[in-house]
Amino acid sequence: MRPLVAGNWKMNGLSASLAELGKLKEALAAEAAPCEVLICPPFTLIAQAAWHVKGAFALGGQDCHAKPSGAFTGDVSAEMLKDAGASYVIVGHSERRQYHGERDADVAAKAEAAWRAGLTAVICVGETEDQRQAGAHNHVCASQIDGSVPLAATAANTVIAYEPVWAIGTGKTPTSEDIKAMHAHLRACLVARLAPQIGQSGARQLRILYGGSVKADNAGEILNLAEVNGALVGGASLKAEEFQRIVRSVKGA
Ligand code: PEP
Repeated sequence: MRPLVAGNWKMNGLSASLAELGKLKEALAAEAAPCEVLICPPFTLIAQAAWHVKGAFALGGQDCHAKPSGAFTGDVSAEMLKDAGASYVIVGHSERRQYHGERDADVAAKAEAAWRAGLTAVICVGETEDQRQAGAHNHVCASQIDGSVPLAATAANTVIAYEPVWAIGTGKTPTSEDIKAMHAHLRACLVARLAPQIGQSGARQLRILYGGSVKADNAGEILNLAEVNGALVGGASLKAEEFQRIVRSVKGA
C-alpha cells in the first residue's frame, strides 16, 4: 500500500498561491516522494493548478454535489472537478458536516458521485471533543463509517481520513496511542463492512489517513504509527516547504 499525504487548502489561495505548487513540484522532482502526494486547492484554482503541476502530483476538490449537473446554484459536480484536472475529492469533511449540515447519507451520495465521475473519494470521519470526553468516539466513528462509506468502496476508489474535530486547526493532537487505537478500530469497521464484497484483504488495502494539526515537527511520529497510511493536512499544506517536510516524514523516507 502506497501512503498518501494530502493537503487541504480549505478557503485559502489566490492565483499567486500557484507559486507554492510550483515550488512543491520542483521539490518533488529533486527527490522522489516516498508516498503519493495530493493537493486540494479551492475550486477556482484547480484548472490552473493542473496546468502548472502537469501531473507531478495529484489534485483534488474539497467537496462536490451528488448530482452530475442541474439547477444547483453555486455547487460544483464531481464531473466538473474531473474536467478541471482533479483525480480526488474530499467528502464529509467536518467543516462541511458542521457548517453545511451534511449528514452521513449526503456524504455517501457524494462518494458515489465521485466514483461516477472517475474520482477517488477521501471520506472524512471523526468525533467532537465532547464525544471523545464522553467515551463515545469509537461508536461515533463506526457509525460514520457505516453511514458514509458506500458498500461498493474499494482501495482504488476510496480513502478514509480520520480527523478528530477537536484536533483540526487547534494545534492539539491525540496521543500516539489514541491514534493507533482509533486507526485499528476503523480498520476493523472497514473489514466488517466491506469484506463481504471485497474480502478481508481488499478491505485491508484501503488507506486510512490521520488528519488534525499535522505539522512538519509531529509528522514523523504520526506517519509511522501502525495503520496510519498517510495524512490529511490543512494549515501546514499551504507552504510548499513545510508540506514537503511532512511528505519526507513518511516511512521509508
Ligand atoms: C483539515 O482541515 O483537514 C485539517 C486537518 O486541518 P489542520 O491540519 O489545519 O488541523
